[in-house]
Amino acid sequence: MAGHNFLFVPGPTNVPARIQRAMMVPMEDHRSPKFPELTLEVIRGLKKVFKTETGTPILFPSSGTGCWEAALTNCLNPGDKVLASRFGQFSHLWIDMCQRLGFDVEVIEVEWGEGAPADRYLAALEADKQHKIKAVLVCQNETATGVTSDVAAIRKVMDSVNHPALLFVDSVSALGSIDFRMDEWKVDVCVSGSQKGLMLPAGLGVTCVSEKALAARQNATQPRCYFDYLDMVKNNAVGYFPYTPSIPMMYGLKEALATIEEEGLENIFKRHTYLANGVRAAVTEGWKLKLCAKAPQWYSDTVSAILVPEGFNAAQVIERAYKRYNLSLGAGLSKVAGKVFRIGHLGDLNELMLMGAIAGAEMAMLDMGLPVEGGSGVAAASAYWRNNQQAQARAAA
Ligand SMILES: *Cc1c(COP(=O)(O)O)cnc(C)c1O
Repeated sequence: MAGHNFLFVPGPTNVPARIQRAMMVPMEDHRSPKFPELTLEVIRGLKKVFKTETGTPILFPSSGTGCWEAALTNCLNPGDKVLASRFGQFSHLWIDMCQRLGFDVEVIEVEWGEGAPADRYLAALEADKQHKIKAVLVCQNETATGVTSDVAAIRKVMDSVNHPALLFVDSVSALGSIDFRMDEWKVDVCVSGSQKGLMLPAGLGVTCVSEKALAARQNATQPRCYFDYLDMVKNNAVGYFPYTPSIPMMYGLKEALATIEEEGLENIFKRHTYLANGVRAAVTEGWKLKLCAKAPQWYSDTVSAILVPEGFNAAQVIERAYKRYNLSLGAGLSKVAGKVFRIGHLGDLNELMLMGAIAGAEMAMLDMGLPVEGGSGVAAASAYWRNNQQAQARAAA
């Protein structure tokens, strides 16, 4: 097929050509005297992305899921109690992992389309007078429903009752695209991955751990080995790894961090908001459809989950978009399968790239008989982007 595939799933995201090129390297000795330069540069760059001075970034040769497991096994004891909320497939999977690893999870069930409820976290923490809860889990950006939660608000309720639990945050589809503040929010473990906002292929688990988390690790007896923080921290301190790192991914990450530095993290967040606003205009003003996210406070700037009208199957829209227009849209997962399709709008993107996704989704919906007006999504996004500035002087750059 002529032309390229339009990749608009919320991860893996488009890898910019300069990052692809940076990854095309011959293999080298990861125990050479020179290798530490690369490791140390990458770790320094990651600290800025996590917004941390005191935290320690760690890279595992895994996907984000490996970092979920590392957080649990490094910091907890067998059977420990953890508090988590469930409002989508990713928050669900982390809870499922906790249960499969034998932890006792107090689950706050939330309707899909809403985010982490600070008031219910507060109630659970307040009731926990004996401090049985050892970790509080929050999914910052629920990729399945396009919902962003307020992590700072969860930290605030923990502090308000002086609860000593560790705070673990899944920022896989937020880090580098939506603001995340490791130190300010006193996050103990931030879990992320390479293939979303960091604009890399999948294959690196990107995590950051606080001093408090590393201290907890010393007494934590949950079995662990491959994902032990200490092996990483000891080796990384002098620029090495306890086992063979993915060298192309390391070079790719170095280039990705340079790309982020050039645009500026704050500008990147603004660009994501601006692009997301255009997509939301297409959905609600153009197509007259609803987002899965129930209210503006939950709208995600990295992914929109779009509800198709009753009686239609979103999976058929996704299949049509792929087969006829070479456009990859995100599927509805689990509870929302068939009910939503998703447009990922994170990473290396601009208005016209997103126009391709909006136009393609619109054509596929029309083909499947959905009651949307031809051209309406594109017109609404166009109006938004033409009438709003990106709050960033790109023309001057
Ligand atoms: C993608 C994603 C994950 C899983 O990451 P993998 O890299 O696929 O293991 C976890 N949480 C969220 C919120 C995600 O978007």
